[in-house]
Order: sequence, then C-alpha cells, then structure tokens
Amino acid sequence: MIMDKKKSLDELNIRMAQACACSLKEGATQAVPGEGNADAEILFIGEAPGKNEDLQGKPFIGAAGKFLSTMLASINLKREDIYITNVVKYRPPDNRDPLPEEIEACMPWLHEQIKIIRPKIIVTLGRHAMEHFIPGQKISEAHGQTFSRTFDDIGEQFFFSLYHPAAALYNGGMRKTLLDDFKKIPAVINDIKRGGTIGTK
Ligand code: URA
Repeated sequence: MIMDKKKSLDELNIRMAQACACSLKEGATQAVPGEGNADAEILFIGEAPGKNEDLQGKPFIGAAGKFLSTMLASINLKREDIYITNVVKYRPPDNRDPLPEEIEACMPWLHEQIKIIRPKIIVTLGRHAMEHFIPGQKISEAHGQTFSRTFDDIGEQFFFSLYHPAAALYNGGMRKTLLDDFKKIPAVINDIKRGGTIGTK
C-alpha cells in the first residue's frame, strides 16, 4: 500500500514535470513537485518554490524550510514523516506572488497528489494555499483553525490554516502566533481520528 502510493506519486510527479501547462515553467530551472512520505497523515501546502528550491528541485529548503523543520521537531515530527508541496510547482520570477492563472494551471497536479496521499489533514501555509481550498477567508482570522470542505474529486477533506513560515520568520508577533498554532496540530489530528474535530468550520 505504502509502496503503491510512493510509486503512484513518483509517476505523477514525473508526468507533471513533462506536462504541466504552467507558464512559469519557461523561466524556471526545474519543477519542484514536492517531497516526503507518500503515506503521510499531514500534507503541507505552501506557495511557490524560491531560489534554492528552484536550483535543487526540492520544496522548503531555504530559511522558511529550516523554520518549518524546527516547528515540526516541536511536535516530534521529522520532514520524512510528512509530505510537502506548493500550489505552484515552478519558481515565479523574482519570487513574486503566483498569479491566479499560474495557480490554476498547476492545481490539477496538486489535486492528484492529494488523491494519492489521502492525508488526514492538509496544513495550508499562507494565504495562497488557503484561498484555493477555503476561499473567502482572511488569514488573520482563519489561522489556527480547522476547516472541513468537500470537493467533487477529493471528497471530504480537513484543513488547518497557518501563516506562511517565510512571512512569520522575521515578524515577532506573527512568529509567536505561528509557533502556537503549529503546536495544535497533534490534537487536531487526534480529534479527526476520533471522528470529528472540535470547532471545525
Ligand atoms: N519554499 C517553498 O518551497 N515554498 C514556499 O512557499 C516558500 C519557500
């Protein structure tokens, strides 16, 4: 089962790098499909690869990635326990925000990744990841909260919204909020396993 998921995900990611219709592909070094455990309970979704990610083909390996690893350690998890990817799979020029059409072009691949991994919870990092799955929310209000949404292709899925680690890294107040929110993740997963989460929206 785990091997099947890994094989399916590896195959999907190879197809994505060949066939993704996103125009960001032209300016990028390579695709950054995602990395981690194909059988993960938690799928983290960020925004877009940055410079280091573009060069190495791996997500979250710069300063924001180090911060993420520290937060994972705070809840006794390692990078190998989770899967991590982004809403767009190619680096936007000068690290600008991804455009709606770029997000739309990469989105089918993200949905396919979700359908293979079938995580207990998707943790959205920042507003771009949140906006696709939980539209119309303000991240200043939604952070630290659990949502349940149903999609035609995915079915029912739980989400947990966090500030983006890159935004919080050098902002004292936001950093403390992100650290506090992050520590709620184990309890949220336990609630989901017991059949429901308290305060889900
Ligand atoms: N690195 C990534 O891979 N994604 C982000 O959103 C930020 C840094």
